[in-house]
Order: sequence, then structure tokens, then C-alpha cells
Amino acid sequence: MRGAVVRYGSGAQGGRDAAVTTAVDGVDLDVAGGEVLALLGPSGCGKSSLLRAIAGLEPLSAGSVAWGEEPLTAVPTHRRGFGLMFQDGQLFPHRDVGRNVAYGLRGTRWGAPRPVRDERVTAMLELVGLAGYERRAVTTLSGGQAQRVALARSLAPSPRLLLLDEPLSSLDRRLREDLVGELGAVLRTAGTTALYVTHDHDEAFTVADRVGVMLEGRLVRVAKPDALRAAP
Ligand code: ADP
Ligand code: ADP
Repeated sequence: MRGAVVRYGSGAQGGRDAAVTTAVDGVDLDVAGGEVLALLGPSGCGKSSLLRAIAGLEPLSAGSVAWGEEPLTAVPTHRRGFGLMFQDGQLFPHRDVGRNVAYGLRGTRWGAPRPVRDERVTAMLELVGLAGYERRAVTTLSGGQAQRVALARSLAPSPRLLLLDEPLSSLDRRLREDLVGELGAVLRTAGTTALYVTHDHDEAFTVADRVGVMLEGRLVRVAKPDALRAAP
């Protein structure tokens, strides 16, 4: 993305209103194929707004988003080929685990026939450590299990970019520490290109190949975790 600006409030398209919040203030960002890039910064610095703009859930007030040579700024969310995962996995409570994981497969090469779809669902559940959970009711899952199912669902259609917004922050600290390493391993096994938004240093350093540091709407630094640890 180039020169990305996201503003909220009246006059968001360029006015000088006092009511306008500039959440993202001129960000250039490139995610390399196959890498996990974490966006790290304090609450309110614009991480979520940036991610939502990449997803097409928030319009840009200036700048552009592209995938390689393909301009995406005017492309609606569901046609960008990106996957999304949020803090609360937002599983469909009335569908079992298998149907939740199969949800995004319609129209992909794993959508039909049924045995192909079932095989994909089984493989995704194995990947996240929930082999055999296909027929379980979503309402019987723990918070950690629900987020694993959400991860399986977002990875199933093999998105070219997976956008994760604080995917573990609704879990308690202990579980978060257990899951973050596992999540990084799953993303690497699947070869997924991912952008991972978090306010937690440890989480960013554990999961990411590179970390982008955001402050007050700007991307102030992008570096490997080791480089940031050495000179924070
Ligand atoms: P982060 O994800 O880093 O916590 P956000 O992108 O959520 O940051 O928020 C950045 C700024 O934009 C904050 O000042 C926040 O209050 C503001 N903001 C976020 N979403 C909206 C919205 N829908 N309407 C108005 N202001 C918003
Ligand atoms: P339900 O019992 O909820 O109606 P099923 O999973 O039995 O849902 O599917 C109903 C029809 O929709 C079947 O023909 C199936 O092939 C198709 N279908 C359901 N979900 C998907 C999906 N994720 N991808 C592709 N086709 C699907």
C-alpha cells in the first residue's frame, strides 16, 4: 500500500474539521510473499484501521492498495482474495465445527464435490490440532478451541493474504502464550502470507518474520524481531 490515509468523522474526504480523526497518516507498507508481518503499537495508533483499509472494510481518504500489479483500492472485500480473522472468531453458533470450516470453500477448488470439501475440512482441523472435531457443536468449544476453528476457517480457502486483528486478545494470558507459538507454526506450515495486528510485544516477536511499529497513525519502523530486541 502507498500513502495510505484513513480519516474518520465529518469532512473525512479532506475537510479541516476539528471532528476529524486521522487514524492512518500516510503509510507505505509491503508484505512479502510467505512472510508473517506483525503490526505492533499501542491501542489507538491506527493498526486496526490500517488492516481494515487493506481488507477493503474502510475506505482510504488518500493513497492506494494493490496486490502486486493489481490495484485493489476499488475492489470490494470479498473479491480481494484475502482472509480475515478477528479477536472473537465469530463462528456460526448453529453450525457444527465442520460446517464452519467449510464456510469459505464455496466457489474454490475445494468447494465441491462433497468428499473434496470434507477432506479439506479434515486437513484444516488437523493443522490446528483439532482432528476429529467436525461434528462438534461450536457452543461446546473453549475460547482457545473456538479461535483454532476460526483460524482453520480462515485458512481453508488458502487466502493469498491473511489479515489477523488481535486474534488472541480475548483469551487469558496463559492460553495466549501457548497459542501464539502454535499459530506462528501453523501459518508457516501453510505457507501463508499474513499481516498480524497486535499491541503485545511478545506476541509480535514470537509470531512474526518482521515487525512494523506504528505510532500515531504512522509506520515508524519495520525490522526483524532480533533487530528490534537489540535496539528497541
Ligand atoms: P488500534 O487498532 O491501533 O487500536 P484504531 O485503528 O482502532 O487503532 O484507531 C485509531 C484511531 O481512530 C483512534 O483514535 C480511534 O479512536 C479512531 N477510530 C477508529 N475507528 C473509528 C471509527 N469507526 N470512527 C471514528 N473514529 C475511529
Ligand atoms: P445444509 O445442510 O446446511 O443445507 P450442506 O452442507 O448439506 O448444508 O450443503 C447444502 C448444499 O450446499 C450442498 O449441495 C453442498 O454441496 C453445498 N454447500 C454447502 N456448503 C458449501 C461450501 N462451503 N462450499 C461449497 N458448497 C457448499
